Amino acid sequence: ASRTADHLRSPVICILGHVDTGKTKILDRIRRTNVQDGEAGGITQQIGATYFPIDAVKKEATKLAEGRQLDYNVPSLLIIDTPGHESFTNLRSRGSSLCDIAILVVDILHGLEPQTKESIGLLKARKTPFIVALNKIDRIYDWDAQPHNCPTRDSIAKQPRHAREEFMRRVRDAQLEFAEIGFNTELYWENEDPRKTVSLVPTSAISGEGIPDLLMLLLALPQKLLTDRLMFNPLLEATVLEVKVIEGLGTTIDVILTGGTIREGDTIMVVGLDGPIVSTIRALLTPHPMKEMRVKGQYLHHKEIKAAQGIKISAEGMEKAVAGTQLMVVQDPTSEVEMEYCRDEVMKDFQTILTDVDKSGKGVYVQASTLGSLEALLEFLRSSKIPVSGINIGPVHKRDVTKASTMLERGKEYATILAFDVGVEKEARELAEDAGVRIFTADIIYHLFDQFTAYMEQIKK
Ligand code: GDP
Ligand code: MG
Repeated sequence: ASRTADHLRSPVICILGHVDTGKTKILDRIRRTNVQDGEAGGITQQIGATYFPIDAVKKEATKLAEGRQLDYNVPSLLIIDTPGHESFTNLRSRGSSLCDIAILVVDILHGLEPQTKESIGLLKARKTPFIVALNKIDRIYDWDAQPHNCPTRDSIAKQPRHAREEFMRRVRDAQLEFAEIGFNTELYWENEDPRKTVSLVPTSAISGEGIPDLLMLLLALPQKLLTDRLMFNPLLEATVLEVKVIEGLGTTIDVILTGGTIREGDTIMVVGLDGPIVSTIRALLTPHPMKEMRVKGQYLHHKEIKAAQGIKISAEGMEKAVAGTQLMVVQDPTSEVEMEYCRDEVMKDFQTILTDVDKSGKGVYVQASTLGSLEALLEFLRSSKIPVSGINIGPVHKRDVTKASTMLERGKEYATILAFDVGVEKEARELAEDAGVRIFTADIIYHLFDQFTAYMEQIKK
């Protein structure tokens, strides 16, 4: 496999934005639109992602191309859709971001909401190109929804005058808000330079308007912006999305492979809470394609898998693997030099996090679902000058409560667990109640922060 422009891997696409803007619904719509058009076109559910072969996407998009030649080199689109990973902060891989392109969903009636801005900040920091879906246009007063394959531009032209005027006013409002945070935006058909200007795509996940437009832009973007990044990279690049117990398989890890090839029997190294974990791939799994649903067994086994794909890996000792971190393959496990190198590499992200823990030993206890979300939360707490005494990844257990309870003597207000996007075990909750440890849970960072600051105020009084 050589690195050339006609040998590109699939771009990995993330959907992000404020809660309730319609991220899930848009993805459902993309899936269904294609499926409804006859055969499924090879669209397959992957682990943590949906795989759209280029022909299926093209079929939708060419309706809009108006005779223009659509000439794409990418083999498919891989759209990340694990519900637990809606927050982009959960996804990171070695320094860069796992995601090549993002769809930022904005509710056209609400404009840029806090989580949207949070997402933009991350996209900016990682220089990830994105397009904006200005969603829920059907909710504009008196909107006259057009068939889904009508280009949005024409759909807008067909609206009653006041609906069109309201639409234009809301687009301008959104453009102003984007300008305030440093982004030039244009409706996509007026955007002459996607390198400098972000495209706005009016959509409705309910009527389906704008969804083919979105697909067409997703296809066009990689060519323009990402060719270098998407050239097939023989080096392995893989991110652990989730750690899950599956009946019959034990603890497995869900991984998005964005570079290289991974094989059954490979020696892998992943980040563990207590240090690097080394193991051997017992099975490389993907779900069955739709038409093979009746085949016995839940998963399809593979000898090897090439990027980009979503995979489930079954391997010994994954219980303490940390989601949101990179996975490495050790070429020669007998080489102590390589093992050492991998250990350092794989734990890099984790080490930087530990420096956030307050040395004085006074502070709140912080728990999150993935390394990425923990990082984002710690960043937030640092900027809010809230000290942190301990961290953990995964659900809140009794031992976490015990650790947090040591603060009862040192600073009562810090005998608190801030739990982001994780569950709290029943026994842990009981112990916390008995001991007087407060547990705050939320799946939006600033909600946690609000709860905690309100609690601090209350204590001061
Ligand atoms: P998410 O939190 O961003 O994933 O948002 P969802 O996809 O769960 O959508 C939130 C709510 O908005 C649901 O009740 C959807 O049915 C609704 N919704 C999503 N997209 C649209 C849209 O384009 N038009 C209208 N009218 N409702 C929408
Ligand atoms: Mg959702």
